[in-house]
Amino acid sequence: MNERVVVVGNGMAGSRLATELHARGEDLKVTVLGAEPHRAYNRIMLSSLLAGKISEPDVELAEVAGRGVDLLTGVTVTGIDRPTRQVLTDDGDRIPYDHLVLATGSRAAVPTLPGLDPLRLPERVIPFRTLDDCRRIIALAGHARRALVLGGGLLGLEAARGLAARGLDVGVVHRVPYLMERQLDPAAGAMLAGTLTGLGVTTHLAVTPTAVEADACGVRLALSDGRSLDADLLLLACGVRPDTTLAAAAGLAVERGVLVDDRLLTSDRRISAVGDCAQHQGTLTGLVAPAWAQARVVAQVLTGQDPLARYQPRPVVTRLKAAGIDLAAMGDPTGGPGEELTFVDPARGTYARLRIHDERLAAAILLGDNPSVGAVIQLFDRGQPVPADRRALLLGRAVGGAVAAPAASPALMPDATTVCQCNTVSKGALVHCWRGGARTLDAVVGQTRAGTGCGSCRDAVTGIVDWLSRTDPVEVGQ
Ligand SMILES: Cc1cc2nc3c(=O)[nH]c(=O)nc-3n(C[C@H](O)[C@H](O)[C@H](O)COP(=O)(O)OP(=O)(O)OC[C@H]3O[C@@H](n4cnc5c(N)ncnc54)[C@H](O)[C@@H]3O)c2cc1C
Repeated sequence: MNERVVVVGNGMAGSRLATELHARGEDLKVTVLGAEPHRAYNRIMLSSLLAGKISEPDVELAEVAGRGVDLLTGVTVTGIDRPTRQVLTDDGDRIPYDHLVLATGSRAAVPTLPGLDPLRLPERVIPFRTLDDCRRIIALAGHARRALVLGGGLLGLEAARGLAARGLDVGVVHRVPYLMERQLDPAAGAMLAGTLTGLGVTTHLAVTPTAVEADACGVRLALSDGRSLDADLLLLACGVRPDTTLAAAAGLAVERGVLVDDRLLTSDRRISAVGDCAQHQGTLTGLVAPAWAQARVVAQVLTGQDPLARYQPRPVVTRLKAAGIDLAAMGDPTGGPGEELTFVDPARGTYARLRIHDERLAAAILLGDNPSVGAVIQLFDRGQPVPADRRALLLGRAVGGAVAAPAASPALMPDATTVCQCNTVSKGALVHCWRGGARTLDAVVGQTRAGTGCGSCRDAVTGIVDWLSRTDPVEVGQ
């Protein structure tokens, strides 16, 4: 009998796992159960949908349902019966498994505040996590003048920028004295706040909300400094909590997330966990690149394609997806030993801070127009030695040796350069795919998946495919 794999969650990790299993294992019977009613969609593109840069069909993910994979949407798994190896669903079914994968993701955190019942949020108070949340925000924004965003982290700022792009006056309330404190330092945070002001977003820093009053007409947010802010809608971007409910109820080892080893196995060898809900080596990832890398490892192990496959975390690069703001951050620029390089141009809103340790880039913040951003990301990602002429890193001057600005020319880019961070696709893999017969952008993207995550590498992928189409394939790479 075919091995039965059941996946709980049809989000970014669960849907990718189904695709990976389908691509590798004809002998598996895969069932995906998703609580959301929709087809699988690209959650990270919701920021672009909110900003009006793309429309709903653009966020749909390619699906393998019906091709060896049973997909049940709008079905919530309510329990795991480990002794009989079955999952229980809210429509009363019991579905047997030989191997179960939890891909239950995260939920938006709702702050504990008078006036906010997490189970019955007022109509004009909306978290930003799902497609339905996004639809409700867009519908309300259509008749709104003012919006408030609670939380000045990455998600809150992308949402704020998106609402401002729809013509709303937007205020961001953040409890820390500077924005994006997990990625930035105070100077970069202050410069980012200045950039946002120019884009129609006001920031209220170092204040906490004390109460929410909301009715059918509007929302009032009371603040710890005694002020009250009024708006037509309040968007909650106060962080996420891994959804560990099922795992905990089934007695699996859970801390902040479901504990997994390098094979993504939980404390029950018949159950794996991937994506936002998994905690690996003490870390919750909360990002799509690790979720997709984990899905690949589980597929390799379950199909027997590579029983020794192990998940190895990679360095994380954070980029803000907000029109008019160029921001990349990696590592912790404020902590740890090393040599510091900074360049500040307040008039142009440009800030660069790099920390170098043992001739390697340990951390960086690049805000505004920094021509070296591509080269800096590559250096960080690959752990390569930095150039002796440090100005090249700060100012984007001609860089010798192994580091080249990726935008300059695909021909100069080393094959090992990671072009797509979300899917870990190198330039070499794109060239290999081209040589294998994929002769259009769609074909190369379809086979490698480059550009299908956050989309920030699409121009680079297009540039490489253009370059390949202009170059005799036989000569490429010689
Ligand atoms: C607006 C926004 C922008 C983002 N931008 C970025 C970005 O630029 N880069 C980046 O790397 N990350 C970004 N993220 C984070 C990224 O989306 C997540 O890391 C990713 O979605 C994690 O995938 P996942 O499958 O683990 O969880 P999810 O995508 O949350 O999917 C989990 C799914 O499981 C379902 N589920 C839960 N419990 C059950 C159950 N009991 N039964 C059935 N189904 C269940 C849920 O309904 C959900 O559909 C962003 C997130 C948001 C909201």
